[in-house]
Amino acid sequence: MTTSGRAVRTGRFAPSPTGPLHSGSLVAALASWLDARAQGGRWLVRVEDGDTERCLPGLGKAILEQLAACALVSDEPPVWQTQRLPAYGVAFDRLVAAGLAYPCGCSRAEIDAALAQQGASHTRHGERVYPGTCRDGLRGKTARAWRFATARFEEAQGTGGTAWTDRRLGPQWQDVSHDVGDFVLRRADGPWAYQLRVVVDDAEQHITDVVRGEDLTDNTARQVLLQLALGLPTPRYLHTPLVLGDDGEKLSKQRGAVSFDTSTPQAALAELHKAAGVLGLPPAKRATSPADALTTWIPQWTALYN
Ligand code: GLU
Repeated sequence: MTTSGRAVRTGRFAPSPTGPLHSGSLVAALASWLDARAQGGRWLVRVEDGDTERCLPGLGKAILEQLAACALVSDEPPVWQTQRLPAYGVAFDRLVAAGLAYPCGCSRAEIDAALAQQGASHTRHGERVYPGTCRDGLRGKTARAWRFATARFEEAQGTGGTAWTDRRLGPQWQDVSHDVGDFVLRRADGPWAYQLRVVVDDAEQHITDVVRGEDLTDNTARQVLLQLALGLPTPRYLHTPLVLGDDGEKLSKQRGAVSFDTSTPQAALAELHKAAGVLGLPPAKRATSPADALTTWIPQWTALYN
């Protein structure tokens, strides 16, 4: 999207309705909104309900209400991934046609056995690094998941790894085929994987700036690879600091982080102040409403992050 030939900067917040919005996700929402506004750009919300198995009914709407109470409102009607399923199929078909996606018939137990045979305890964040068993064919097995041919693609790129730059954390590099392996594009139980959905949607929505929590940093190289494979542009990336719980661990829905109070404008303002503090922004002392506070922080965001 352009006006007079120059790309309109576009940011987004992409919550998964697997639990209510918590203080950790508000940091990402606030940061992405400030970043878009600081660049005179648009801010969009995408409800990532594409993983139907894990999403809870009604929660997407509740998250939009929580955001609205914090004066964070999408510039266009929010996009729901469940309405975009055909687009993921089109991208997937292109990868298959290019020889960059293949069916995998391995169960978890078979993957473990293959890894043990290789003498590899190859796991990362508790996830198995796929040993490549079905890369050259199913050998009579029934297809379960579909995987991206990471090793084949990285080799064809000839760069020995994937480099990208984070606006806060600096230059990043990952050997995806070694560290992650041939990752899943479509799960055995049916849903399109997050990596494919996010890449297709960021391109479709003309996102120029992805601003999201640091816990997602590690996914970025995979997303850059998929962008290259699909001929899509790579946005700029900025990963925000995480909110830690009292035990020093990151807040997450999985760990039972609770939703925050947006029942009154004052409560929402207090939550925004907490999120701003995590981003290193000073208190908006004179702000009397969430919208006021947001406006106060725009120039301060520019000073810190541009
Ligand atoms: N939906 C993802 C989440 O809630 C975030 C996706 C992204 O920002 O790339 O963790």
